[in-house]
Amino acid sequence: MSSLILSPDRTRSHALQQRAERFFPGGVNSPVRAFRAVGGAPPFIEKAEGAWLTDADGNRYIDYFGSWGPMILGHAFPPVVEAIERAARNSASYGASTATEADLAELVTTCFPAIEKLRFVSSGTEATMSAIRLARAATGRKIIIKFEGCYHGHADGLLVKAGSGVATLGIPGSAGVPEEIAQLTLALPYNDIPAVEAAFAAHPGAIAAIILEPVVGNAGCIAPAPGYLAALRAVTAREGALLIADEVMTGFRVSLGGALQLYGLDADLVTLGKIVGGGLPVGVFGGKRAFMDMLAPLGPVYQAGTLSGNPLAMAAGIATVGYLQAHAAEVYPQLEATSKAVAEGVAAEAASAGIPLTLNRVGSMWTWFFTPGAVINYDDAARSDTAAFGRFHRSMLDQGVWLPPSQFEAMFLGAAHGEAEVAATVAAAREAFKAVLAG
Ligand SMILES: *Cc1c(COP(=O)(O)O)cnc(C)c1O
Repeated sequence: MSSLILSPDRTRSHALQQRAERFFPGGVNSPVRAFRAVGGAPPFIEKAEGAWLTDADGNRYIDYFGSWGPMILGHAFPPVVEAIERAARNSASYGASTATEADLAELVTTCFPAIEKLRFVSSGTEATMSAIRLARAATGRKIIIKFEGCYHGHADGLLVKAGSGVATLGIPGSAGVPEEIAQLTLALPYNDIPAVEAAFAAHPGAIAAIILEPVVGNAGCIAPAPGYLAALRAVTAREGALLIADEVMTGFRVSLGGALQLYGLDADLVTLGKIVGGGLPVGVFGGKRAFMDMLAPLGPVYQAGTLSGNPLAMAAGIATVGYLQAHAAEVYPQLEATSKAVAEGVAAEAASAGIPLTLNRVGSMWTWFFTPGAVINYDDAARSDTAAFGRFHRSMLDQGVWLPPSQFEAMFLGAAHGEAEVAATVAAAREAFKAVLAG
């Protein structure tokens, strides 16, 4: 293992960023990669192995974002690499059915009993977008409830921010989203059942579905309050609306069967992504057979994809999910123990430095919120000292620890992280908190 570096040279990354800015808005192909929220320039990655990233200047970093979730078995995990190589030799794509699609579907449905039938797509965005179209078709209703701080991809109707007040109609969270579309999405506070009841009372017979992250990751990590998920299930069942569990982040992460297994929840539709593709682009939407059979060619709901069920992506997914299923009894307890050690170790360093920090953690996803108060919804998270987080982030990066570049993201680790990485991370945090205090 290499020692952690201070004041790394980033000359090559800097030049690559200048070049990338000629071609891509902000120099990136997904905005969070630009490090705008924490300041500083993003290092370019050249390669990665296990828990470690190597940048274009040869600096190494312990990885706590795992490609935003997928890399739960570590980078360049040999069974995944071999599966992709083997598949590639038979051609990258056919646009016709292969046996591998049902192989991965069998694994998915075993882990997620709520998924009786499914469709593979190429991203989480496509999965949630298609699930919502299906929910609207199944109910003949238009309005969708989502929760403030939950991210479900960048489809128009899901880019709706907080509206003030319980039943306030949504406002566009992005320029270019027509108000008529945004108004069909109600954004309510998370962990607040009275707000959901009020929305159903205000829009009788008009709400098609509730979509949520059953553990929030996209406002930073926020766990569902005891009884919250069961209450959502009961309200939707009573009102004839569908419950859509967006497990793009939590699926195969918080347990093999995601949050549904962890909390004993059932859902009408489930969306998956990230881990299910083992690092290649895969999304899933699935659920109760009666709903899924409304899709073309069996039914009137259209959905399609040129590269859906792509053989390389299926191979990587099978290798990843297959490994997780075969080794769940070792992998998940190990992820829990490693995550607990690093998350609590860093929080203890903050406490001894006198820095108020709230740790929210569910298994191998967690957030250190720079705020003294409990964080149970987006408004609580938004009270965090993001400038302090930025100083923390920059110092950690300079010491060779790569955290997601925003206070409002969850950290992830994988099966390749061990005691050495934990110890190095806690030691780096001790120094980083000095930088936070120095201002
Ligand atoms: C990442 C994410 C998405 C979007 O997935 P993409 O593959 O980036 O389109 C949707 N929902 C949740 C909960 C996510 O974390």
